[in-house]
Order: sequence, then C-alpha cells, then structure tokens
Amino acid sequence: MKLSEEYQQRLARVQAQLGHGAADLLVVAPTHNMRYLLGFTPKYDERFCALLVGRDAVRLVVPHLNAGQVESHTGLQALRWTDESGPDHALIQALDELGVEQSTTLAVDDTMQARHLLLLQEMARPQRTVTGDALLASLRMRKSALEIEALARAAAQADRALLAGVDACRPGVSEREVAEAIVQSFRRDGAEQVDFTIVGSGPNGAFPHHHSGGRTLRVGDTIIIDIGATLDGYKSDITRVVHLGEPDPEVLEIYELVRTANERGRAAVRPGVTASAVDRATREPIDAAGYGDRFFHRTGHGLGIEEHEPPWISATSDTVLEPGMVFSIEPGIYLPGKFGVRVEDIVVVTEEGVRCLTGLGHELIVKQ
Ligand code: ZN
Ligand code: ZN
Repeated sequence: MKLSEEYQQRLARVQAQLGHGAADLLVVAPTHNMRYLLGFTPKYDERFCALLVGRDAVRLVVPHLNAGQVESHTGLQALRWTDESGPDHALIQALDELGVEQSTTLAVDDTMQARHLLLLQEMARPQRTVTGDALLASLRMRKSALEIEALARAAAQADRALLAGVDACRPGVSEREVAEAIVQSFRRDGAEQVDFTIVGSGPNGAFPHHHSGGRTLRVGDTIIIDIGATLDGYKSDITRVVHLGEPDPEVLEIYELVRTANERGRAAVRPGVTASAVDRATREPIDAAGYGDRFFHRTGHGLGIEEHEPPWISATSDTVLEPGMVFSIEPGIYLPGKFGVRVEDIVVVTEEGVRCLTGLGHELIVKQ
C-alpha cells in the first residue's frame, strides 16, 4: 500500500512551491496541515513527530508507539524512535536522507510546539526559519474535486440537521432542547463530531456566538440557528432564522435586508474578484439602510478541514478568488435586547462563478 493519489498530488503541490523557492524544507507537525497532506494525524503530545517535505522526497519521523498506526493509515514508512532512544537520531537520518544542508531555509508548521521547533533548528541548523503558513494556506484554499464533494456532503447533512432544529422549535421548548435535536440528527446521520450548535432565541440572538441555554421559546421569538459538524474530515456551517408566530414589520424589514445582503454577496463571487469586493457587495444593502454598525463581523471565512480557515471574506482581505475556494457568506444584523438575524451559506468558487453548497431556501421560516 502507498499514499493515495489525492495525497500524492497534495505533496507534489507543496514540492512544486518549494521548487519555486518558497523554502528548502517544510516541516509539518501532527496538526490540520498533516491531516491535509497525509489524510491522517496521530496524537500530538510532547513527543517529536513530523512530516518533512523536501523538494524531491518526504520523510516521516514518528514515535515508535504511533508508528504502526501512522504507517497503516498513510502507506508511508516512518523513521521510528523510542522513548529510550529519543528522536535525535531518527531526525538526523531524515535530514541526511533528504540532503538538507546548513544553508537552507526551513519552513515550519505554525502551531508546531516550540520545543520541537528548537530541536529541529538544533539538528538542521538552517540559515533561516520561516512560517509555512502562507505556503500551506495557498494550497489548502484551493480545494480539489474530492474535497468539494466532501464539503457538499457535509453541507447537505447540515441542511438536514437544521430542519430537525426547525422542527423542534415550539413555544415552551428550551434553546438547549432545540440544540439537542440538532445534535441527534447529526449523530443519526453519521457525523464524526458535532462542532457547535448555536440556538439564539429572542434577545439572545443579538449575540452572534450565543451559547444555547435554558431560555424557553415563546410566540413572537426570532430564533437564530447556526450549526456545524464534521463529516469525513470536512466541516459544515449553516445559519437560518425561524420565527414563532406572525413576524412584526421590524423583523420582516431586518430579515429582508440580511437576505438581500446574503444574495448580493453570493452574486459577487466569481474568479478574479477580491474577497474584499465580496465583503463590500454583501455589506452594501445593510449600510444603505442605516444598519451598517449592527453588522459588526466579517462577511465570511473559509471552510475545509477547519471550521475557520483562509480565505477571510473581510474588508481588508486582498485574496483574489480562484476556482475551488470554499467559504461562508454570513451577513447579520443584531439589535441588542431585541433579536438578531443572520443568513449563512457555504459557497464554492467555480470556473463560471459560484456554486452554493447549502441547499436550503433563504426565506424566513415562520412557524405558527
Ligand atoms: Zn455559522
Ligand atoms: Zn460561519
């Protein structure tokens, strides 16, 4: 068995970047980046564990107790070290085999533990150490067809869980009970992990990151439901709004503004435009109606093996959109003491424009 073609391609893209002079060697710890490059991450504890990517070859240095597991998941052979021997010898062997010289530029995983970075610097004696973040982010932002399909499956699962949440919204039911119905749906549907369930009813909806609590729903409540889970290693994220009983004109006005902002944002997405242009297009209808200061967060964030990852869809992001980028469009308006509204979709940039992975409609969900 060897590394599947998908992961070979990902490593080849890193190596191409190294070939273009990004660095001589990239060292990745057992983080999301390792999961991205190998499809598997062993437990990251105090023991040194790293994937070393050189221009023409890769080496894995793994503590003996995890080596069998890593090899069986990745098909790669690991250079093992034991608790008795320590990692120095295995690491030196890896560096030797990759032909790393002391004049190198070493790029490292941002969240590598400091003690591991220091060991690496002591052994490799690089001339320069830089962050590998930009290199990895530029690759991870552009999703492969396989990743987009995984994100689409995750989005469809979140659609179903959201409907289960809508179903559970009734007068007298607590936010926590609605959240529980959503968790149950995700679990029944095979989610690896439920990452978050925000159910913000009435005034609680005015806090974008409200923790679902004991407040019971009542007629007249506007309820924000923002949820996400992990399926096959990929994240979902969706927000919809439910109203119990006939909504008053203010709720309808605010909802319509946010719905329009979401629509404008999605319509602005295509290859070649900047992320800040999408942010601007999303904000425009809300600003024009005088609620600009009530929309106090960025328009969106990238989504993949992490819940929040580049590209950032914000006023200051000069990232130029490319096919394969996946991110959220999630404008909101929050009225303290009253209610909040947010409408969030996950979209992917295509050659022609945009595909929305979120499948639910955008109308206010009114329950009588
Ligand atoms: Zn969300
Ligand atoms: Zn989001």
